[in-house]
Amino acid sequence: MTGERKITKQEQEPATDEITEVAPGVLRTQLPVELPGLGHVNCYLLEDERGVAVIDPGLPGPASWNALLDRLERAGFELRHVHTAVVTHSHFDHFGGAPRLRDEAGADILTHESFRDHFDSSEIFESHDSEILELNPEEELDRIREMMRRPKPWGGRWSPPSDEDLRLFMKMGRRTRRFQVPDPSITVADTQIVKLARREWIAVHTPGHTSDHLCLYDPVEKLFISGDHVLPTITPHIAGHSPGGVITDPLARFFESLKHMHDFDVDLVLPAHGHPFQDLAGRADHILEHHYERLDIIRHAADELPEGTVTDYMRRLFRERSWGDMAESETFAHLEHLRIAGEATTTERDGMLIYRVAL
Ligand SMILES: [Zn+2]
Repeated sequence: MTGERKITKQEQEPATDEITEVAPGVLRTQLPVELPGLGHVNCYLLEDERGVAVIDPGLPGPASWNALLDRLERAGFELRHVHTAVVTHSHFDHFGGAPRLRDEAGADILTHESFRDHFDSSEIFESHDSEILELNPEEELDRIREMMRRPKPWGGRWSPPSDEDLRLFMKMGRRTRRFQVPDPSITVADTQIVKLARREWIAVHTPGHTSDHLCLYDPVEKLFISGDHVLPTITPHIAGHSPGGVITDPLARFFESLKHMHDFDVDLVLPAHGHPFQDLAGRADHILEHHYERLDIIRHAADELPEGTVTDYMRRLFRERSWGDMAESETFAHLEHLRIAGEATTTERDGMLIYRVAL
């Protein structure tokens, strides 16, 4: 084939069935993911005298589950050996396989203590789990679409995914019997010790990408399981809200969590997407810079754009192909950061939040 070839970021590489020992008793495996910018999720297997712990057991649904069974087998384990599923944060490419590991292997589910706060009772997963299954597929689609059209904190409504995506999403749910949010049986707080892979890990709470984000640090072998907090080549998405509501200045919390990376002596970082790498603090600084630049773009837009909606500012921050709800949510996080720092004010006009950025 000739012509231009799109450069693939490591996080976009499709999952392979390779098993790599990245440290004694710590294996990197990959499970398939097809999400914008992501081709796999790293599922680390941590071996010990009790069996094996699984970090981030992938998406819900049979494709990921079968891949997980395959990786366990290749690594010499059976499903019943899995004693713990660690979930680094409340995104479904990380927690999807956890409920089934609990049901079929009796595994504990370990998360940060704030994991549950991420899901309110109106969460789509739970509703879908119960009565909606009785409805016919088209009614189901309509109902889910309505639920997704909730108001956005900065005005307007969320746009539901395409019918095609919704169908896929529901199919995933149906085949797994339960497309549900895992209910953790072990929750940990920052600095708490977690014993896995014959070592003691220190739980590191890293709010930002999500407010419940959890990393694990092994100070002896200087390993750092970073989840989506610090990824090798992409900058994690920062949401200005969570299903539970608006989070106060998530960007400030993310900055703190990124600066915190300087406090760890690390030889190897094990991210949830992409290849293991070495320079944790350097990569964290790089991500910080990226957000500082975004804040500067908003500050300097004030000449031509003294005030505007979140959508107006989003168009300044993101390339057109990225425009949409996620970009808006991230823009909202940046604008809120400036507002809380006293660099912007808000008013409301026709149900839309209008930001005015002061120079
Ligand atoms: Zn992820």
